[in-house]
Amino acid sequence: MASVHSTSEVGRDHRVVVIGAGIGGLVAALQLAQRNLQVTLIEAMDAPGGKMRQPVVDGAPIDSGPTVFTMRWIFEQIYQSAGRRLEDELTLTSLPVLARHAWGAQERMDLFADPNASRDAIARFAGPPEAARFMQFCRQAREVYDTLEGPFIRSQSPTLASMAGDLGLKGLAVLAALGPMSNLWDALGQHFHDSRLRQLFARYATYCGSSPWQAPATLMLVTQVELDGVWSVEGGMHALAQSLAGIAQQRGVEIRYGTTCHAIEADGGRVSAVMLASGERLPADSVVFNGDVSALTQHLLGEDVRRAAPSLSPGKRSLSALTWSVHAETAGFPLERHNVFFQSDYRSEFTDIFSRARLPQTPTVYVCAQDRGISDTVPERDRLLVLVNAPAEGSRTLTEPEIDTCESHSFSLLARYGLTISRTPQNCLRTTPGDFHRMFPGSGGALYGMATHGWMSAFARSGAKSRIPGLYLAGGSVHPGPGVPMAAMSGQLAAATLMAHLDSTSRSRRVVISGGMSMRSAMTAGTD
Ligand SMILES: Cc1cc2nc3c(=O)[nH]c(=O)nc-3n(C[C@H](O)[C@H](O)[C@H](O)COP(=O)(O)OP(=O)(O)OC[C@H]3O[C@@H](n4cnc5c(N)ncnc54)[C@H](O)[C@@H]3O)c2cc1C
Repeated sequence: MASVHSTSEVGRDHRVVVIGAGIGGLVAALQLAQRNLQVTLIEAMDAPGGKMRQPVVDGAPIDSGPTVFTMRWIFEQIYQSAGRRLEDELTLTSLPVLARHAWGAQERMDLFADPNASRDAIARFAGPPEAARFMQFCRQAREVYDTLEGPFIRSQSPTLASMAGDLGLKGLAVLAALGPMSNLWDALGQHFHDSRLRQLFARYATYCGSSPWQAPATLMLVTQVELDGVWSVEGGMHALAQSLAGIAQQRGVEIRYGTTCHAIEADGGRVSAVMLASGERLPADSVVFNGDVSALTQHLLGEDVRRAAPSLSPGKRSLSALTWSVHAETAGFPLERHNVFFQSDYRSEFTDIFSRARLPQTPTVYVCAQDRGISDTVPERDRLLVLVNAPAEGSRTLTEPEIDTCESHSFSLLARYGLTISRTPQNCLRTTPGDFHRMFPGSGGALYGMATHGWMSAFARSGAKSRIPGLYLAGGSVHPGPGVPMAAMSGQLAAATLMAHLDSTSRSRRVVISGGMSMRSAMTAGTD
């Protein structure tokens, strides 16, 4: 007699282990549980979020990873698909000032959520013609974003050929207008005459861990993302991770914190189990890996999966960072939530990092003051994340004296621009590229996977489907790339790819079973 089992029946038997509770892993786990799969999520740290971590410094929890929450619509979709409303689960407040920028003690300019307010601020700062050029730039950034959202960002695994087809003549014309092979810095030069504004918008390349001099001009779409709105999350970005972890658990995901994956095993070329550092073995029909993809190619998770993705040379790594999480009194500078303190020789920063593999001698300093920006209330002590860009560990590890020098340059720059921070060893936690490397194995401390350098780099990232059947990839080191919203999207793509494989196998099983294949052989057939 022919027998048919539905996808949900296959799903209930299907055991998935998700490795890593970063945003990509959390979203993948949640969406797979929504499809009734048996999901276990293991995480080496003792809390969810990965880079969205919140260490307690001097009694205060401080967001010490991502601080800029953008692309709210992606999270609205994720919550909606879980039967929830984002606004019921988290308190998000739209920030009227996107960021405050300073080039000296008196030279300051804010960008606003309202583009007309930004235009007026630019007119006051750099003159009305520059403000008109800013509006023109916004139009081009919007066009680039709209052109690439479907064919690239939302695509499972875009290639140059697939994208050329999807773009159509209109899309190709938008990209051609950027100038053939132009980098972001050059493209910005076509708009801005004031070097400070060129520098301000070039900085968006660093959101992908890249140099404006090597990033393709298309990265101006990152600017558009921020101009579309920045929100603050009550409880910090870490609250987003906690919220998703809670919903995932309610949907049946078993989350095991403090649990490290030692190896991913494959049997007959297909993943079969996850070995924990404790020696426990978790049998798995599929695995989603949310760590840095380099951990696989560097054999950190065993020989069976070392060819899961193309290996990345250390020279292609994105930026790392040197950060200070501080809980202290501040004075002398009217902090907004997001503050950028620029130095004048911007290029030297990227030459130091990417060509000389050293900390910038004259760093740009970013300061997130997480209790500012929503109301006029000034906290007695600020919770700050101070960040400078740094090289990922390639061939060498930074020394303590080098790091101390960079620290002293960074805080003196802030003091010169008016901001003093009463730091003590007790109220300040320093995190170095080496620390990031230890927290995120295989990364060399790079926070954004591989750098987006050159036109083809965007196509070099792995997609959700690895080269090992049953192994899927999610996170900022795979397509569509880094940043919390993008990594969340990669989690959606990993879940969708796994489900598509499962659904297609289920369909082919139905066909085979109705043709007379035994139930046992159907159930043991691979799902790829
Ligand atoms: C300082 C800093 C500032 C940033 N600023 C912003 C910003 O303002 N806006 C923005 O959108 N993005 C920002 N980013 C980037 C953003 O945080 C990341 O792109 C994103 O959070 C990456 O998510 P992910 O899914 O790749 O997981 P990750 O956050 O990389 O987490 C991966 C998880 O996997 C776990 N794991 C790895 N290997 C194993 C193993 N073998 N066993 C068990 N667990 C394992 C790790 O412990 C970790 O928890 C910033 C990042 C940093 C560090």
